[in-house]
Amino acid sequence: MEVKKVLSDLKRRFPNEPEYHQAVEEVLMTIEDEYNKHPEFEKYNLIERLCIPDRVFTFRVTWVDDKGQVQTNMGYRIQHNNAIGPYKGGIRFHSSVNLSILKFLAFEQTFKNSLTTLPMGGGKGGSDFSPRGKSDMEVMRFCQAFVTELWRHIGPQTDVPAGDIGVGGREVGYMYGMYKKMALENTGTFTGKGLEFGGSLVRPEATGYGNVYFLLEMLKTKGIDIKDKVVAVSGSGNVAQYTVKKLLSLGAKVVTMSDSNGYIYDPDGIDEEKLAFIFNLKNIQRGRIREYAEKYGCKYVEGARPWNEKCDIAMPSATQNEIDGDDARALLANGCFAVSEGANMPSTPEAVNEFLNAKILYAPGKAANAGGVSVSGLEMTQNSIKLSWSREEVDQKLQSIMKDIHAQCTLYGKQEDGYINYVKGANVAGFMKVAKAMMAQGVL
Ligand code: NDP
Repeated sequence: MEVKKVLSDLKRRFPNEPEYHQAVEEVLMTIEDEYNKHPEFEKYNLIERLCIPDRVFTFRVTWVDDKGQVQTNMGYRIQHNNAIGPYKGGIRFHSSVNLSILKFLAFEQTFKNSLTTLPMGGGKGGSDFSPRGKSDMEVMRFCQAFVTELWRHIGPQTDVPAGDIGVGGREVGYMYGMYKKMALENTGTFTGKGLEFGGSLVRPEATGYGNVYFLLEMLKTKGIDIKDKVVAVSGSGNVAQYTVKKLLSLGAKVVTMSDSNGYIYDPDGIDEEKLAFIFNLKNIQRGRIREYAEKYGCKYVEGARPWNEKCDIAMPSATQNEIDGDDARALLANGCFAVSEGANMPSTPEAVNEFLNAKILYAPGKAANAGGVSVSGLEMTQNSIKLSWSREEVDQKLQSIMKDIHAQCTLYGKQEDGYINYVKGANVAGFMKVAKAMMAQGVL
């Protein structure tokens, strides 16, 4: 495989998809050596079959707002690869959603799901609809309209969606309700469902908790204790909230959170009471992070990201490309020694290079945030056997999966000088399993 040629072909065939090109390039650069050890992969053109999604559905979603006006949005589902199990991946509702972003996410998801040790292929979907500022009824009508198109492409053994940015328990509930009505079945085709109708304990917490479990494994390799470490978190949604919750329970000090308007810096640290305020602000009131600064009298910086604040550890948990080269250099200059990604691809390629060159502990999202989809996989298992596991049981399984992912990254990513390149480790480990499954199943 010649990475440059594969990339230029993809760019020619799929122009104007920068996030997709970025994600593919990052993976191909790191798996090139391993791939070239297997001439049989090249013979079967594995690389193109792995980079190009199996299929992409694009559809119009028509719904009626509270004023009685008819609105349209675009809807998508990318079924990327099902070599090791049903397509699995979240649904994102955000005004920025387009085909490029969803193709990058579905591509990443394929390797992430492979790392989880569970039988799940990769997919992703979404819409350029933004729930922000919409009434509950508008969100419900939109979700129902979205699923009226989507339902015929998904199912418990074919494609199982979940949440992502803009899609939490409320949206999953509305989508699953409509799915059940259309498909006349009760097999749990979505994950992230409410506990009363097939959801799993620990699913809301899973991505944030899982990221902290992964961080603990990384710190262990250096004999570092998390207690009293200063952590900068970005975002204030699902992933950020539970990241902070777990960090607090371990005695770390979290000094920043953010939303798409700006960030707060609280030098005293966010404590349990302040975090409860954020849960209420973001999940019930659906307000802005600025209100935290107003309530607790701390600094709020409009239109900026928190990476210039001094911290030991950074846990980006908002969105893609939220740490650029300058941010990375600022983090390093301030003594940051670990970055563990809750969001998908939050660091630009330049930022990733800064982290790797500085040889800090750096975990890419596809390893560090795989806890969410892992517990989604456990939710699928519980739905299949029609049983619910206890909180302790699910949490134990999550911890052991995150340890296992760390071990796989170490196996493929440990360099001669002992430094663990988690980017390479995660990409090669994730890739090898999918590649072997594709080879065994013939040319499809
Ligand atoms: P939420 O919608 O719950 O929260 C997203 C947070 O990020 C909000 O604070 C939001 O601010 C902020 N944000 C969104 N877009 C931008 C932007 N363009 N610039 C700055 N801030 C932004 O989503 P999640 O917490 O579920 O997802 C966060 C990240 O984690 C995403 O990258 C997602 O793909 C990834 N992830 C999520 C998983 C899950 O289980 N939910 C699993 C694995 C990864 P605002 O309130 O202003 O919109």
